[in-house]
Amino acid sequence: MVPTMKICPKCASFKVNRMCSFCKEPRIETEITPEESMDMSDKQKEELISHYIETLIKDTYDPKIREEREAWEKSQGSPWASYQGSGAKCPTCGSTNVRSISGAERGASILGLGIFSNKINKSFKCNSCGYTW
Ligand SMILES: [Zn+2]
Ligand SMILES: [Zn+2]
Repeated sequence: MVPTMKICPKCASFKVNRMCSFCKEPRIETEITPEESMDMSDKQKEELISHYIETLIKDTYDPKIREEREAWEKSQGSPWASYQGSGAKCPTCGSTNVRSISGAERGASILGLGIFSNKINKSFKCNSCGYTW
């Protein structure tokens, strides 16, 4: 079965792994695959998340929790920051069990381009969910 993206009912974090690590809530399944979500621009993604906020998680969503979660994520360091360090992190499941396909040094230029903006040459593979990016 293809994994799908899931959305946290409280903070609307949109990831492939089931539990929201901030709210400790199980996320709700969407019909979007990680592949599709990676092909979306930031704007499309934002619109999609807004759509789910108005439909799927309307009754439980709290913008304050979302703000707190975003601040928390920053304090944890963005997943992309790890490109510059020793290890990379899977953007869909968050696993650090990833391997570099063609070297981590390209990470800086990927960051500069905006990671969701378009298809870029994939340079990492996740050993947990098999995703490449
Ligand atoms: Zn959450
Ligand atoms: Zn993964």
